[in-house]
Amino acid sequence: MTTSTRDERATADTFEVRSPSTGDLVGSFPTHTADDVAATVARARVAADWWAGLTFGERAKRLDRFRGIIARRLAQLAGIMHEETGKPHSDAALEASLALDHCAWAAKHADQVLGRRRAGVGLLTLNQAASVEYRPLGVVGVIGPWNYPVFTPLGSIVYALAAGNAVVFKPSEFTPGTGSWLVEAFAQVVPEHPVFQLITGDGSTGAALCASGVDKVAFTGSTATAKKVMAGCSETLTPIVAECGGKDALLVDTDADLDSAADAAAWAGMANAGQSCIGTERVYVHADVYDAFVEKLVKIAREQRAGTDPDAKIGPITLPSQVETIRRHINDALRRGGRAALGGPDAVDGNVVQPCILTNVPEDSPAVTEETFGPTLTVTKVRDMDDAVARANATTYGLGAAVFSKKRGAEIADRLRCGMVAVNAVFNFPQIPSLPFGGVGDSGFGRIHGPDGLREFSYARSVARQRFTPPLALTTFARTAKTDSLVAKIMTLLHGRH
Ligand code: NDP
Repeated sequence: MTTSTRDERATADTFEVRSPSTGDLVGSFPTHTADDVAATVARARVAADWWAGLTFGERAKRLDRFRGIIARRLAQLAGIMHEETGKPHSDAALEASLALDHCAWAAKHADQVLGRRRAGVGLLTLNQAASVEYRPLGVVGVIGPWNYPVFTPLGSIVYALAAGNAVVFKPSEFTPGTGSWLVEAFAQVVPEHPVFQLITGDGSTGAALCASGVDKVAFTGSTATAKKVMAGCSETLTPIVAECGGKDALLVDTDADLDSAADAAAWAGMANAGQSCIGTERVYVHADVYDAFVEKLVKIAREQRAGTDPDAKIGPITLPSQVETIRRHINDALRRGGRAALGGPDAVDGNVVQPCILTNVPEDSPAVTEETFGPTLTVTKVRDMDDAVARANATTYGLGAAVFSKKRGAEIADRLRCGMVAVNAVFNFPQIPSLPFGGVGDSGFGRIHGPDGLREFSYARSVARQRFTPPLALTTFARTAKTDSLVAKIMTLLHGRH
């Protein structure tokens, strides 16, 4: 099997995409220059004015029809996702279908979350009517990753659109066909103006988008690239939302349902070949149930075969350069005294990596500290759940986490430093559209999904309207000494006793 590297694929003005499974050519796309990006953003500005002029209800109707197209042509979209990323067709279809609820939620709730609403006033401002609304920013640049090429970018795109923005989308150079499909589908329901546009290319096209003066950049990708994006955006004071990587931990307490904990760890660690930002990479298990848990986990993981054929449950590694990182983490862990309960160095064959379960891996190993992004798990025995929490939190990342415990799940979850936590399940929070999605620390900042995700693509605009002349005129040069003394008394009464 041959998979071209980025440099081999790029030519002066087009680049090719090849299937990680077969090496076949999947498509050829333009490498958009800074001038192309500027022209696209200029078109988006005009479209943004028109789109923002529609009512929430009118935008919701279009978004509903967009989701209808995705739902009806799911198999076609999943086919492109499968070709570009190598992920199993059924996983691709599941990913795309999970985005539909977000589209529906954003369309339905935008008015309620962002529309004008009354705000309370104080004793001295009783004569004022106060209100706030959240207005669209204008043009939002969305830079997406390849690992979830539909669910992840749509998590920004549909919320930005529902809030009244135009969107310029730069998908990963590994998944431009998927991005193109989404943009074409949207154009069918919004033919009037290019409200949602595509630009394609490599990192330089993304950098041009950051420098283009868009009103916000929604970036999803690695922490290292997020820093470059932030630096680029600082030139134009363009705000960003950064959804970056993670090193999520799954904690197993003594009273956990071990069958479901093992099943969940296998899925969260190995589905999508472990290439999930919220994928479990570290498992901390109470000493009392450690052996039983490892046995169950190995049994499940052993049955999952990675391959490039249609029957494989786990696809190939999408990004050619990632294979070396996975190999390095496995080899280093074993060199430092770790043990492969399943897999090991032989698990890596070309761009296919079989499930690996590594135990006794020192906590300062790259397999524990860095994002591996492969179907590997480190499983570590802990003294108690205090120990588990301390180890889980000892990371620069803080994206998601999971806790398995019948009695103390919520209590343990409360102590984890991360943006999202699942109790007795995995991957549940991104499926709930009303829940904000995002992390802390090296996992980024800002939120997509839910009310926070709508507000992320808007700005608050306050209006205070005077209803009648105030009995105490404060903001006038005609203010009297009597008024000053009265205000002082009122303030003392209101605040002085605290
Ligand atoms: P990268 O950081 O390599 O790339 C992300 C996007 O940024 C791509 O579209 C890439 O383009 C683009 N890009 C690269 N360089 C620049 C630049 N200088 N300026 C602007 N844009 C640039 O991430 P991956 O695509 O490899 O995605 C995997 C990462 O994404 C993992 O770390 C994963 O954890 C994270 N992720 C986070 C999620 C979250 O919601 N928190 C969800 C999904 C993934 P190109 O590909 O063309 O180089």
